[in-house]
This record gives sequence, C-alpha cells and structure tokens, in this order.
Amino acid sequence: MVLVTNLWSSVSHPNNSIVGVDFYPDLTNFEVSRLDSLRYNITFQNASLNFPPTSIFPLDGLVDNVELSQNKDHIELYVTLTHPTNIDYKTIGKCPEQVKLYFDRTPLVNLLKNKHIVIDPSHGGSDYGSISPTSLLEKEVTLDLAYRSKELLEKYQAYVTLLRTSDKDPLPTRKKQNKITSINPDLMISLHTGNDVKGKVIGSRTGFFKTSSQGKKIANIMQKALYKKLIFPNGGIFKTNVSLLKTLPDKSIRVEILNITSRLEEGWMRDDGFRDIMVQGLFNGIKDIFNYSTT
Ligand SMILES: [Zn+2]
Repeated sequence: MVLVTNLWSSVSHPNNSIVGVDFYPDLTNFEVSRLDSLRYNITFQNASLNFPPTSIFPLDGLVDNVELSQNKDHIELYVTLTHPTNIDYKTIGKCPEQVKLYFDRTPLVNLLKNKHIVIDPSHGGSDYGSISPTSLLEKEVTLDLAYRSKELLEKYQAYVTLLRTSDKDPLPTRKKQNKITSINPDLMISLHTGNDVKGKVIGSRTGFFKTSSQGKKIANIMQKALYKKLIFPNGGIFKTNVSLLKTLPDKSIRVEILNITSRLEEGWMRDDGFRDIMVQGLFNGIKDIFNYSTT
C-alpha cells in the first residue's frame, strides 16, 4: 500500500492548470475517467491517505475544486471545472513521487482573446487616495494591481490599457472619459480600495452606474468572483453616479478590492503573494463577465 502525502495545485499561464498528488514511497496505478463535461474522476489503486479526506479550491478560472477521499483500498480524486476542457497527465519519479494532471486552459484564452479592457488605477501622484492605519497608500495598491492584471490578461491575448502608468497625478475625469470613448473597450474597471471610516472588515465591493441594469449584472458577476477567491466577507454591489462609469455604463464597474482602513485587510493587501490572489480574483471576474456576454 502506498501513501498519498499531499494534494496541491498550480497554474502555468496560459497553458495549464495543474493538480498534483504526491506519493510515498512509490507511485501507484491510476485510472482517469470523465464523469460529465465539468467533472473528472481519478482512481488510485492500492493507496491510502496519510491525512484526513480533504478538498482544495484552486479557483484559478478553470479548476474550481478538487476533492480527495479514501475508499477501502483505493483513493478517489474528483476535479470540478468551470469550463469543459481536456486532461493530460504525467508521472514523475523523484522525491516525492508525483502524478500531475494537466487541464488545458485554452477555453480561457478563447474567452479573453482580442478583448479590450481598460483599467483605471485610481488616484496617483499628489492624490494618495485612502491611507491605511500603517500608511499603505491606495494609489500604490491600485497601480500595482493594475500592472499585474495587465500582465496576466495579456498572456491570454487580451488588450489592456491602463489610464495611469506611473505615480503621476490622475488625468482629469473629462480626459479619462475621452480616452475611454475613443478606445470603446469591451470592459472598463475603475480600481479602488474601500475606505470605511470605522476601519471595519468589509471585503470587496463592486459598484455600477445607477441606471444600468447591464452594469448591475456584470458588477454581480465580478463581486461573486472576488468574494469566492478572497475569502473575506461579501461587501456586495452598490449603485454609484460617478461620471467615469457613466461613459460606458453597460460595460463599466468600480471595484473596491478590499477595505484599506481595516487592519486585517491592509495587512493582506501588503502581501506580495496575496496581491497575485487579488489579481486572480479580478481575472476570474473579467473572464466570467465575457463568458456571460457570449452565452
Ligand atoms: Zn479610491
């Protein structure tokens, strides 16, 4: 009997989502079967878990959750996807012995390819935006997240225009509006942090232009994706009348990624690894919005 010692996931953008199972001391035989368009089952023979049955939630835009359970003398792995795709696998004999399952991310490239997204990293220069209890500046967070989002989305062949690319004062709203009108993007995201005066833990919030029902729909989709990925409370969606969202109300949202005045949320916002998680949350929301508009 071999032991399963670990279950993990990673992403190779834009090619594959990877789910890995580690074994000790040897690999074992396994069988891959497709249960339906969004679910795979992998059975590992003569194996047992050296930890309690568990689930992981990669939420990487393609792999939603992975469940591992013991069943007499074999182990069952269930993988649930958000889009139908193909699987490939590789076994690696090293320390630890590994089975790597590769899920093809082409469906995500198909959704994002040639889409034009405008991101406005709010504030900048002498306009700091909100300031956290330990002096983290909103303008720094929004610019960094915008750059990371651009880099990630471009791997999926999307076009991304940032309305601010350095620590300069923001363009006047009228100029931003003219730029958005001339680009006529598929989606516009005004990126902020929240700034609750009492410093409460709020989580992400997503705003839409008050009269746009389409804006409300896409705000809902983004908010759901952020809430799922960031594991903070759900700040919900809200109406706004800011003129930037009025430019293209059906394609515009305002994301307040986390609340910068909360000691807990600012701590996570400072973390380099968590910034990538926030960007993955934004990516998931953007991808889901395009998936919604093509179905
Ligand atoms: Zn702001």
